[in-house]
Amino acid sequence: MTETGGVGTTGMDCHCHCGIHVWEDQYIVEILDPVTGQTVPDGQSGEVVFTSLNRQAVPILRFRTGDLTRILSRQKCECGRTSLRIDRITGRVDDMLIIKGVNFWPRQVEQALMEIPGVLSHYQMIVEEVDGVKDLRVNVEAQSGVTGFMVEKHLKEKLGFSPKGDIFPPGTLARSEGKAVRVLHAKNGVKPA
Ligand SMILES: [Zn+2]
Repeated sequence: MTETGGVGTTGMDCHCHCGIHVWEDQYIVEILDPVTGQTVPDGQSGEVVFTSLNRQAVPILRFRTGDLTRILSRQKCECGRTSLRIDRITGRVDDMLIIKGVNFWPRQVEQALMEIPGVLSHYQMIVEEVDGVKDLRVNVEAQSGVTGFMVEKHLKEKLGFSPKGDIFPPGTLARSEGKAVRVLHAKNGVKPA
């Protein structure tokens, strides 16, 4: 966001904490599908693109931030402001994965996983590549009663393709320190470190 002027220049949080108000009299904000360049419907995640209306000398025209977020609301906020509100930045376009022709972000997998009753918050996504063909395996900790089939079925409904799902007992998947490294890559059967 630095190129657009930095934090606070394009918008702000208000006391309702219900999204970031974009200064629409200063900027046009668009949320686009980063692959097709088409506008996505409100509520759907995409790349934030800014155009400045009043900046001089260094205007920005449809600047692609590479950041992912979504439009939360265009309704008048409790605080009285009428500008549209966007969510906090949820990831980078670079994090996007393409498996079997379907593009998605790890966060979508996480959201889908957390909707399954009994599934816990530790998981790994492993992108398995064999002879150039990528597939996704999702290892997740869950309480007994949750099966790999349940995970596969739910992810298929949410993502549009079927990752393989393996269930692990609570506390058995590797933890990483600091920022969770949850997407691993395996090529031609070589297991990730
Ligand atoms: Zn507000």
